[in-house]
Amino acid sequence: MIIVASANGRVGIDAAFEALESGVSAVGAVEIGIRAVEDNADDHTVGAAGYPNILGELELDASIMDGVTRECGAVGALHGFRHPISVALSVMRNLPHVLLVGEGADRYAREIGAERITSVNTAARDEWRRRVAEIVTAPGDDAIGDGRPLAPLVRHAADPERVAGTVNFLAIDDDGGVCAGVSTSGWALKYPGRLGDSPVIGGGCYADARYGAAACTGMGEMAIRACTAHSIVTAMRHGMSADDAVRDAFEDLVLLGGPFLDVMNSIAVDTAGNHAGFSSLEGRTYVYRSSGMTSYDERARTVAPIPRRWAR
Ligand code: ASP
Repeated sequence: MIIVASANGRVGIDAAFEALESGVSAVGAVEIGIRAVEDNADDHTVGAAGYPNILGELELDASIMDGVTRECGAVGALHGFRHPISVALSVMRNLPHVLLVGEGADRYAREIGAERITSVNTAARDEWRRRVAEIVTAPGDDAIGDGRPLAPLVRHAADPERVAGTVNFLAIDDDGGVCAGVSTSGWALKYPGRLGDSPVIGGGCYADARYGAAACTGMGEMAIRACTAHSIVTAMRHGMSADDAVRDAFEDLVLLGGPFLDVMNSIAVDTAGNHAGFSSLEGRTYVYRSSGMTSYDERARTVAPIPRRWAR
């Protein structure tokens, strides 16, 4: 058994692994790990403490995939609920659908009695206010809620340095279960309704119990366009190691054209427990814990730069 997670999964990986050891499935362990990150008030890229969209509204995305059945569930632009990953899991288990967004996702979360967010994270709110003040002349909570076009503001606000974040969890249990899960507040100051790769199965999240699992953080538009998580698992299906599979997916990303295309982070694990973590940036890490370890270990990601081809 093994759990592999993005570095911000530190707050949940040991609880998730101990759950696996006590007999909880890979799917259950991924939910446990991600819920801990969604509750981390210091993580402004996931859950209630996440950075809001350009209008100051928190829109949360999450997905989960059971690699045994390849059933999956996802929510996008969910408003006001504490654990998007659990709503996504409920979609997987209880609906004939894969992805619910916006008002429909909110409605479903209410129907299942999902826990609500009860307080605004002031640090995230202050940062939103500060950044809005940089790009509009009359800053304040209502300054950009007056019907003005948001597209120019979003282009200006879309600083890729702020994209780092989002949580990935991959788990393999001793019964052949394999699961991938992702949760995020998305790209800070995004256009309302924008979905990244996190709720897109195959983009930011994929699991197939025959081969392994993969997940991504970074500029979600890239992972959607290149189906990166699915590409990684498909490469493992064709015999590549986890390491070679992620490297291959990064080589594919380098060829994408267009702006905002230079930050990607991916992790992968194969069914033998081999794992890999790559980033286009220096200094990024990921965490893992497998049988025999008493706590998680943190490992440097292989750096595979994706050259920026646009001017800021
Ligand atoms: N991948 C996420 C998204 O595009 C953001 C991130 O990983 O920081 O919404």
